[in-house]
Amino acid sequence: MYDAIVVGARVAGSPTAMLLARKGYRVLLVDQTSFPSDTISTHHIHRAGLATANRWGLLPRLVGTGGPRIRRWTFDVGPFALTGNPLPAGDLDFDLCPRRTVLDSTLLDAAAEAGAEVRENFAVRGILSDGDRVCGIQAQTADGKIIQERARIVIGADGRRSRIARLVDAPTYHARPALSFGYYSYWSGVDLHGIELYPREGRGIVAEVTNDGLVYVAVGWRRAMFEAVRAHTERHVWQVLHDCAPQLAERVRQGQRVAPFKGADFPFFFRQPHGSGWALVGDAGYHRDAITGQGITDAFRDADLLAAAVDAGFSGRQPLAHALAAYEQARNTAVMPMYEFTYRLAQLEAPSEQEQQLFGALRTNHYETERFLSIMAGTVPVAEFFDPANLERIIRGSAALAA
Ligand SMILES: Cc1cc2nc3c(=O)[nH]c(=O)nc-3n(C[C@H](O)[C@H](O)[C@H](O)COP(=O)(O)OP(=O)(O)OC[C@H]3O[C@@H](n4cnc5c(N)ncnc54)[C@H](O)[C@@H]3O)c2cc1C
Repeated sequence: MYDAIVVGARVAGSPTAMLLARKGYRVLLVDQTSFPSDTISTHHIHRAGLATANRWGLLPRLVGTGGPRIRRWTFDVGPFALTGNPLPAGDLDFDLCPRRTVLDSTLLDAAAEAGAEVRENFAVRGILSDGDRVCGIQAQTADGKIIQERARIVIGADGRRSRIARLVDAPTYHARPALSFGYYSYWSGVDLHGIELYPREGRGIVAEVTNDGLVYVAVGWRRAMFEAVRAHTERHVWQVLHDCAPQLAERVRQGQRVAPFKGADFPFFFRQPHGSGWALVGDAGYHRDAITGQGITDAFRDADLLAAAVDAGFSGRQPLAHALAAYEQARNTAVMPMYEFTYRLAQLEAPSEQEQQLFGALRTNHYETERFLSIMAGTVPVAEFFDPANLERIIRGSAALAA
């Protein structure tokens, strides 16, 4: 009998298992895959997420995964680019972009070192129930054996298509269909430093340096383009690069593509992340478009919140159901402004007149440019920057300078 079984051992599951094991609980962490393992995802970790990892003592390991520290952001609005480094999170003034092969293995190792028992190639097929309370899992090993394990809580960290969420029938809310989708690949030999973003009407590009000197280039389109792009991905990627970022296209052309294209679409939803004997964390409980690159940062925060809630419940400091309800509330409060901001960006609209004025004003205002870039980095709240009075102040300030 375990205290907790965590299903899914990537950026949500491994930290949750690690934190619970560090508190002395008996934890089983399982994944149907074996590590190191890639997944369909680029891998920008905002400084807000790194600050969480730093509290866990994992920052040196994440820095040690080999990719450069990202301090240079380029937000190209078409006629010109805004550049800068977002405000620090505490004293952390950089982001990281480690390949998921190294990131996820590093987190898994940390969970194992904390005392979590890890089983790979271990696919959960069902849940065990005791009345209406979940009390374990049924899983299949690589050699086909069916195994049952019991726990006080089963935590689904099994991604957006979470089997645990389906099996417990977790209620979904604030759900909205995907607005966009993206494809990405990796290139060697591309002259690029930091992260470059190119938002355009109906399309968008993100390019960023990662491990081994490789650069990933990700292109997004509105959902309606899905079939056409899937049929001729490379042609469409190059089309967008040439149309929207010719200078970047030239640099990418100098390099060599070293991996096939991978892609995904991005539905929006929240799931109630707890019930009797179960909880959800990471994409299993909350999903949004990848355009703002929040998934890993969100997963770290929610692992922290969920592990604290489970501990509060198990230790008797609070009824478990109350602690888990507070976890849901804290998650929703933390993500809601970014959820709406991400939804707006994912529409891939041309900038409004006010946004054009804002970008024009930011062009000559480095301080406010860095605050603008800090929205995505998680160090300036969305609502604070987009407060109408703040926007007017920035725009009027630039008009006054020009007069
Ligand atoms: C194209 C794309 C680009 C992205 N770019 C970024 C980015 O730059 N920055 C960022 O922060 N986020 C990004 N994201 C989002 C990010 O990838 C996710 O938010 C993050 O991976 C969620 O982590 P997770 O641990 O919740 O789930 P996942 O990473 O989906 O991991 C779930 C794990 O559960 C396991 N599992 C599933 N079912 C079972 C089962 N039945 N039994 C056992 N194991 C099971 C799977 O094998 C998997 O290992 C991107 C996403 C996509 C699709």
